[in-house]
Amino acid sequence: MSTAHTTVDFDRNGKQIGFVDIPHSPHEDAWGATRIPLAVIKNGTGPTVILEAGNHGDEYEGPITLGELIRELDPSTINGRLIFLPAVNAPAVLAGRRTSPVDGLNLNRTFPGNESGTITQQISAYVSDAIMPLGDAFVDLHSGGSSLNILPSAIIEPAADPELRRRNIAAVLAFDAPLTVVIDNLGEPRTSTATAVRQGLVTVGTEMAGAGTVSLDALAICRKGVRNLLAHFGIIEATATPPAARSEAILRIPDHDGYVLATSDGVFEPFHALGTKVSAGEAAGAIHKLLAPASPPEILRYGADGIVYGRRQPGRVVVGNCCVTVAAPYAGDLT
Ligand code: CA
Repeated sequence: MSTAHTTVDFDRNGKQIGFVDIPHSPHEDAWGATRIPLAVIKNGTGPTVILEAGNHGDEYEGPITLGELIRELDPSTINGRLIFLPAVNAPAVLAGRRTSPVDGLNLNRTFPGNESGTITQQISAYVSDAIMPLGDAFVDLHSGGSSLNILPSAIIEPAADPELRRRNIAAVLAFDAPLTVVIDNLGEPRTSTATAVRQGLVTVGTEMAGAGTVSLDALAICRKGVRNLLAHFGIIEATATPPAARSEAILRIPDHDGYVLATSDGVFEPFHALGTKVSAGEAAGAIHKLLAPASPPEILRYGADGIVYGRRQPGRVVVGNCCVTVAAPYAGDLT
């Protein structure tokens, strides 16, 4: 049985800003809790949309956008229910880190969670078991985090069911990001979006720049995109012209070939800016051995044709670090 407790009533109309408490008993605090902010805004009979951010604690456009919506939205102007988890991995957000300082786990590799597990596993269990069953749609706002800088994009989580896939693609296109990318994290089932898709929720993700900072451009895209989505679901009135459905611009990361990984320790010099068109076999960058100036740098090569979609932020790399990611046109089912 989960020991999590929330202060909000999910069925009540109006705006409630509260939290989920997950009891936690470390050395410094025998009877305390990990407190996760939670807000509910409800009015009318429209659908329920769950909006999550702070899944990784070093990605900021999503949490900023959701905080603004929680403060600004007047319940009388919406039709439906919005459930906000703007800093879902609160310990990681507090630390400004991808992973939780409490148990070292990456929340987005713990879904569907374990109510008897560590704090991070209990958070994912609460989202999976208590929050997702309330929703019609699930939105998880990510950015690249400290180690990556990614072209701002809305993300499609693949769905086996054709009808859910069609609804996911329509929602992601309604976000109207400059790019739309299919990302399945190499088939990873332990993410929040993969879990939401398994529960049959219309699911939307994002990657909003990154590099451990707040991007002006990405924040503007995120603010507009989330409102576009809420209009798409009929929860708020559309404020501008309907977004162009740019289905011809959908990309995907071609599995392992799309990731250029470091082959040795050193400092990575990228050869191309984000958005550059590149080809399989072309040199992607060089790893320099700064303490061995007689050794020539090691050249890394792209494994796929496409555009440079993401790039490692810190210069220092060790074997296996992701240095560059390529996105290629998506050739799969769009209907
Ligand atoms: Ca992320």
